[in-house]
Amino acid sequence: MNTKPDDIHRLLKKAVKSQIDIGTKEIIINRNSAKLQINKCDGQTDVLNVASEAELFNQINTSTLGEPEFDSLEAHYDKICNCQKCPLGKTRNKFVYGVGNPHADLVFIGEGPGRDEDLKGEPFVGRAGKLLDKILEAIKFTRDDIYILNMVKCRPPENRDPLPEEMEACSPYLIEQLRLIKPKLICLLGRVAAQRLLDTKTPLGKLRGTFHNFMGAEVLVTYHPAALLRFQAYKRDTWEDMQKLKARYDEVTR
Ligand code: SF4
Repeated sequence: MNTKPDDIHRLLKKAVKSQIDIGTKEIIINRNSAKLQINKCDGQTDVLNVASEAELFNQINTSTLGEPEFDSLEAHYDKICNCQKCPLGKTRNKFVYGVGNPHADLVFIGEGPGRDEDLKGEPFVGRAGKLLDKILEAIKFTRDDIYILNMVKCRPPENRDPLPEEMEACSPYLIEQLRLIKPKLICLLGRVAAQRLLDTKTPLGKLRGTFHNFMGAEVLVTYHPAALLRFQAYKRDTWEDMQKLKARYDEVTR
């Protein structure tokens, strides 16, 4: 991630806020000595060497902060499934937590539940979900091999994009899920998830093709299956992305 100096303050604020949301007690940043000290709720302290300011956001949000607050996805789900932290909680039918292998090396992240997902309580079950299943099948995966989740757990009305403040409210849940699953690879589906998680305004087309980093996992960006249903022209690029993803998966899980 290339971070301009002007962005550091904003990134830090965001990262620190997400840690406060999940209960971290204290974070001390000493830029002169390039050290980051994190005093955790369990009384333990982590001191990180920060090679560059650009690493700070990733560092703060990685497992170096200690064990996840929850010991399983089930316990985490039980705690948050009645969430009303943002307005989407009031209009949802079902809370859509995520589905798949809780120890998956590969996680797919979309932007938010649609109508079918909201009714069923499961991500990617509509037309776009069926297409995702076909894509997975083409690279020899099933839903049991991977984990699928979204940036927000509740459906935005009329399938609009989730708002930045809604993703902000929901992001501690996503981070806790990733800490529990500990994937080696993440595939971001679509512009909304990609720009939000990678904290960039770079167009999706330019984010594709190279691996990024988030919370220690390698991240590949591709088109959302719903976009493929509308624009056939994206299929070829998506196929290339999936082949790249599968090749890297085979390497890192060897
Ligand atoms: S979208 Fe996330 S933050 Fe908003 S109510 Fe649903 S679970 Fe809570």
